[in-house]
Amino acid sequence: MRPALLNPLFAPVTTLSGVGPKQDKLFRYLLDRNETPRLVDLLLHLPASVIDRRARPKIRDAAQGTIVTLEVTVDRHRPPPPRNARAPFLVYASDDTGDVVLTFFRAKPGYVEKLLPVGAKRYVSGTLQMYDGVPQIVHPDRVVDEAGFAKLSGIDPVYPLTEGLALGSLRRAMAQALQKLPDLPEWISPEVIRRCQFPAVAEALNRVHVPVELTDILPDGPFWSRLAFDELLAGQLALALVRAQLRRPAGDRHAGDGHLRSRIIDALPYALTMSQREAVAAITEDLRQPVRMLRLLQGDVGSGKTVVALLAAAAVTEAGKQAALMAPTEILARQHIKTIAPLAERAGLRVAILTGREKGKERRELLARLAAGEIDFLVGTHALIQDDVVFKALALAVVDEQHRFGVRERLALTNKGDAVDVLVLSATPIPRTLVLTYFGDMDVSELREKPAGRQPIDTRAVPNSRLSEVMDAVGRALDKGKLVYWICPLVEESEAEGTEHLTNATERFESLRERFGGRVGLVHGQMKGAEKDRVMAQFAAGEIGLLVATTVVEVGVDVPAATIMVIENAERFGLAQLHQLRGRIGRGSEASTCLLLYKEPLNEMSTARLKVIRETTDGFRIAEEDLRLRGEGDVLGTRQSGLPGYRIARSEVHGQLITQARDEALRIMKDNPKLKGDCGEALRCLLYLFERDEAIPLIGAG
Ligand code: ADP
Ligand code: MG
Repeated sequence: MRPALLNPLFAPVTTLSGVGPKQDKLFRYLLDRNETPRLVDLLLHLPASVIDRRARPKIRDAAQGTIVTLEVTVDRHRPPPPRNARAPFLVYASDDTGDVVLTFFRAKPGYVEKLLPVGAKRYVSGTLQMYDGVPQIVHPDRVVDEAGFAKLSGIDPVYPLTEGLALGSLRRAMAQALQKLPDLPEWISPEVIRRCQFPAVAEALNRVHVPVELTDILPDGPFWSRLAFDELLAGQLALALVRAQLRRPAGDRHAGDGHLRSRIIDALPYALTMSQREAVAAITEDLRQPVRMLRLLQGDVGSGKTVVALLAAAAVTEAGKQAALMAPTEILARQHIKTIAPLAERAGLRVAILTGREKGKERRELLARLAAGEIDFLVGTHALIQDDVVFKALALAVVDEQHRFGVRERLALTNKGDAVDVLVLSATPIPRTLVLTYFGDMDVSELREKPAGRQPIDTRAVPNSRLSEVMDAVGRALDKGKLVYWICPLVEESEAEGTEHLTNATERFESLRERFGGRVGLVHGQMKGAEKDRVMAQFAAGEIGLLVATTVVEVGVDVPAATIMVIENAERFGLAQLHQLRGRIGRGSEASTCLLLYKEPLNEMSTARLKVIRETTDGFRIAEEDLRLRGEGDVLGTRQSGLPGYRIARSEVHGQLITQARDEALRIMKDNPKLKGDCGEALRCLLYLFERDEAIPLIGAG
């Protein structure tokens, strides 16, 4: 249970005054949450920059175009004349050196009179302009009296915003949230506090949101760094707790004698690459060790991870145990079973699939066979972790495209067996520095070579204005019997609501069908599973030549005969996503072409991204470049996934802190693995604060 102390921070933002349903929606979008954000979400939304209002000149000395704070007396009002409601409300004010006009457009009746009563002294802050030789401030950012002024630091934080959300309302909400900050215990050890010279967490939060110095909000400054360390420590500690659980000495080991593996290898229509063989050897060795396996298999799209997973599953089957593979989507799970089933069957490995689609009697029978040990390798989606899915002897959990799953799912699957070995497959190559952040200390195998016979992909960027030429080229390709993907992006606004906006894809589908008729198909995420599969199958069989798709084809889909891909609005996609998408082609023996259609003008970031994607198909290089260009959030596509992402820590700034947090987590695991006593309580608080508490129930389980 969450410590009661933290409850005020987990109250919804709508409990703050001035935050209604409209703000709720905006805050959800801003803070990237599907539900009403809590105060803690707000407090962890840090400023991007500051406005310096400390300049306090006399009116006579105030420089045009600068932000100033003036101390003035209000002399008179000039409301808009009755016939001309569009004219501004003018307030004439002065100090002992001159006059200034404060201008308000479309002011609500009574608003200005109340804010700036005649005869009152006020502090007014804003950008000074000259209008007809008279100093003027249009819509001052701040108007306060003596008491209000005493509370101003003169430095205002500026936050990343979303359309429709005013800076002022965010600041007002933030100020209230800060008021609710409880008296938090110190969870960082005195040694680290001393070494890193960290301020207390409350001070850190206060200083980033109410900066006293311009440097207070810098990511590498003490306040931000303290918060980044907290976030990293929470992440590392959670991983360490999970790992301690997973690494418990394993009982009997899981690698068999190799007879199934060699049968599978004999049945393969190709030879394994060197790195595939190395990965299989490393996994087999792990399966023999007296501690559980925790290995990440990284490999670019098309590098052949599935067959490695199958061989790992075969190894545990040889030892009389079961294996499971969990994929993030139905399409992927079916893709896997399609690759796996023919090979497995020839070797005598019994495989089955379980997704949301298997229901009723079919599902019951499948579960009965699973519990009886009559299924060796079960492939599926989230459906695998439902409570009534019981294995006879689960020994290996393979988790594909791991970053889409949280720790919770991973644990739920491994808890279905005794001392289950874990193999994580990642098709988004993750730079080594980030492996630590997201997975903790894992062993890593990389499939760096592409399977033999792969053709390079010719990638070109083409402006939208040449759309009709692209259509012509697609038409010629279709006439030659080529298979073409046409990818349309989702529309941004609707992503926030978790639904896929189909206008782009459906509209493009219609226009392409007008031209190419029945040779065009459409798949998108809102179609029923069976319908999706049917269209994909038609495409794979060449009955459809041109497949219009949203990003549902992003991960793992395998139609080797497809050799052309058009990506519309390529400038809207992240590097990792473009790479994933493009990985759908260049899989067969024929040369492939990828056309990146973009809308002009391109901004700097999009230009850089398209350049990288044109220059290389090496996923590891692309991941490094992506990290360099945008920071880690996008490398992992955390925005689309449920991965507990990092909101404060940034790898390019806090790289040092990642290792320090890891070391601190390891020390805690050594000295106080059950998180006992006051120190332990404080650390639990930290885990809850950053919502890394999944691992806490494990502590008791020992
Ligand atoms: P990944 O999951 O890593 O994206 P897959 O496992 O889906 O890649 O493999 C992509 C394709 O490559 C599959 O059609 C598979 O049969 C094939 N493949 C795998 N390994 C090899 C290899 N060593 N040589 C040739 N083709 C291979
Ligand atoms: Mg795959």
